[in-house]
Amino acid sequence: MDEEQRKSILIIYTGGTIGMVNHPETGVLSPFDFNQILIEVPELKRFGYIIDTISFTPLIDSSNLNPEVWVKLAEIIKDNYYKYNGFVVLHGTDTMAYSASALSFMLENLDKPVIFTGSQLPIGTLRTDGKENLISAVEIAAAQQNGQPLVPEVSVYFENKLLRGNRTTKYNAEHFNAFESPNYPHLADAGISIKYNYAAIHYPVIKKDLIIHTSLDTNIVILKIFPGISRSVLHTILNIKGIRAVVMETYGAGNAPTDKWFLDEIEQAVKSEKIILNVTQCHAGSVDMSKYETGNELQKLGIISGYDITTEAAVTKLMFLFGQDLSNDDLKQMLNHSISGEISK
Ligand code: ASP
Repeated sequence: MDEEQRKSILIIYTGGTIGMVNHPETGVLSPFDFNQILIEVPELKRFGYIIDTISFTPLIDSSNLNPEVWVKLAEIIKDNYYKYNGFVVLHGTDTMAYSASALSFMLENLDKPVIFTGSQLPIGTLRTDGKENLISAVEIAAAQQNGQPLVPEVSVYFENKLLRGNRTTKYNAEHFNAFESPNYPHLADAGISIKYNYAAIHYPVIKKDLIIHTSLDTNIVILKIFPGISRSVLHTILNIKGIRAVVMETYGAGNAPTDKWFLDEIEQAVKSEKIILNVTQCHAGSVDMSKYETGNELQKLGIISGYDITTEAAVTKLMFLFGQDLSNDDLKQMLNHSISGEISK
């Protein structure tokens, strides 16, 4: 097959556990040189794809990640967009769900696969989950039918399943099976063969040029409600200087205390133009403020429903929307709509 016809994949290595190998002399785990990927993971050669790599310097443990990394990722993808059929982003697992969510908003008109993956054990260890994750992610990134990519969206591949990036959450700190998308079906499952769930995958109707949005505003706070939360804690969080939005993690279907002091604080915050987005603390299911009085009170005060959004997608969607210079009304409208499949609405 000539170079023209060979599929091409760009692997972007940001850091994280996956990229560690045992040093040949000392045995100590150290970052892997991804320029040597075809030597270290020879199985990849059998695909016959052109595989190029870009490694971040310095490599980052994803717990140290900040939105500048998302901007860098978006720019790398844009700069290489027409050169590759798909992109695989190797990333630490800790904040992978935030990064995949952020990129899903930042890459407008995406029509190629951008697949995040990583591993719980370094690729250089015997029982690693990294090789399977990497090899399958590359296969999915290159998968096409009639010349069209099978999964043209931002996704996370981990332990035999492909999930929509902005529906994903890390829910297990030690199992290989570390990610889930409780409110959205798997985009694909990898068994003996890879089964794609075409009905769940987003396919763009009209192809447009990729646009990247790199302006993000981080003036957001997450407030998790708990029995016994005091007025001073609530007041302090709602009044942090510069904060524009509060992602409020409430109970069940979006419920919170109905004490007068609680509602007064919320009302004040809404009056001072703060966006309060109601997200459930539950791992699955949706906010529905019309169900109980405890939710209804919040709705009356102008709190916005996050529906079945994950906290990761809520935070990054707000950062993205605040970067768009929208009026508060337009912003609220956008929160009520799905931008890239992050809510079931
Ligand atoms: N702390 C690591 C990271 O998120 C964990 C991992 O890669 O799984 O970068």
